Amino acid sequence: MEEARAIYSFACANCGGEITDGRLLEVGVCEKCLPSSDGGLLEVAEKLRAEGKLEKLREYLRIQLEYEDFRKFFEKALGFEPWALQEVWAKRIFSGDNFAIVAPTGVGKTVLGLIMALYLYRKRRRCYLITPSSILAQQLYEKALSFAERAGIRDPGAIIVYHGGLSKGEKAEALKKIGEKSGRILLITTDRFLVDHGDALMKVKAFDYVFVDDVDSFLKSPKNIDKAVALLGLRPESVEKALKLIEVRVKLAKSSSKELAEEYEKLSEEVRREKARRRGILVVAGATIRGRRTRRMMIFEELLDFEVGRFQEFVRNIEDFYLKEGGDIIEKAVELVKRHGGGCLVFTPHALGRAYAEKVAERLQQAGLKVYLYQKMETDVLQRFSEGEIDVMVGLAASRSPLTRGLDLPARIRYAVFVGVPRRELRIRFDE
Ligand SMILES: [Zn+2]
Repeated sequence: MEEARAIYSFACANCGGEITDGRLLEVGVCEKCLPSSDGGLLEVAEKLRAEGKLEKLREYLRIQLEYEDFRKFFEKALGFEPWALQEVWAKRIFSGDNFAIVAPTGVGKTVLGLIMALYLYRKRRRCYLITPSSILAQQLYEKALSFAERAGIRDPGAIIVYHGGLSKGEKAEALKKIGEKSGRILLITTDRFLVDHGDALMKVKAFDYVFVDDVDSFLKSPKNIDKAVALLGLRPESVEKALKLIEVRVKLAKSSSKELAEEYEKLSEEVRREKARRRGILVVAGATIRGRRTRRMMIFEELLDFEVGRFQEFVRNIEDFYLKEGGDIIEKAVELVKRHGGGCLVFTPHALGRAYAEKVAERLQQAGLKVYLYQKMETDVLQRFSEGEIDVMVGLAASRSPLTRGLDLPARIRYAVFVGVPRRELRIRFDE
């Protein structure tokens, strides 16, 4: 191997320890984890597992293997493999993310959603597909049955459809089955069903996977948001708490007080606890998401870590720019902030932890800047920041952090710097 030009701290993909640049590019894990250096990351992960040394790569390996299984299932059902975007979406589902697929018609969103439902159904999970119309619900149902047969699903009896085009008898039969099936199920309905029979659905066991095929249509009834959240196993109280939290955050951004900050921390904790009850994941798809970003839509973000607004333009005059890699990245960030002055948010990668954020803050301070290392919402910090008493706020790039959301200081925040690449997608947004 070449001589190391740099050693990265916290960068081994498995143990999170030190790793040389050569190893990082070539293998991804350090010598301590795995002395050898051949094979791709998947092979490396499998070797680590064989040696009982899997750490951070455990999750990676699980998703790769699960996807491999899914890929075969997909091919059996359809006769061809998923394409690149479908692979990305499938892996996000396996990693347990709630998310929106915003892509034009014809790229295979619905097919992915349907095959995933069948795949999970085969694994005895509870799945629910929501479509905008009776015709689509019926089509999806027929496809589900034919794909199920091709994929070798032996018991399609719990694949159930309900829509306005069914006869009275068929409807009654479907409702009865929905009430009875407490184990695996693949339910296909229109979004109208949630309005008419939502209460009945709230009584059955939560779903593991909910796929909304046309999110624009779905969001026309704002109450559907509450219902979607409940379908995943969250309690109705969680919606109230999330709304309250959003309200307090907005207030806090305008003027802070000790009481408000304490209330915020308390509510955050309660919402965290409510969120832990979630059983399933939600995937919504659409060609666009046109709906206004209402308070109710923010519930998705709050309770499901779901960024609906990400696809809309809420960013005022924000330019994205990045620095080419190489050299001391903290040094570059310091130069940048010195050049551009106060009113800056600096984000550090969540994966590198608080210690790294502290290091960055310290370097900025040494450069003569007035720095605030964000820990939690403290009284008067925002005021001091907006009055220029603080030049730079440094914090982790976590999408939960109030630093990254709901900071309503457009006059003060002039730019943001990411030191390193945020490991999770993140957008800074200034609420209207
Ligand atoms: Zn390592």
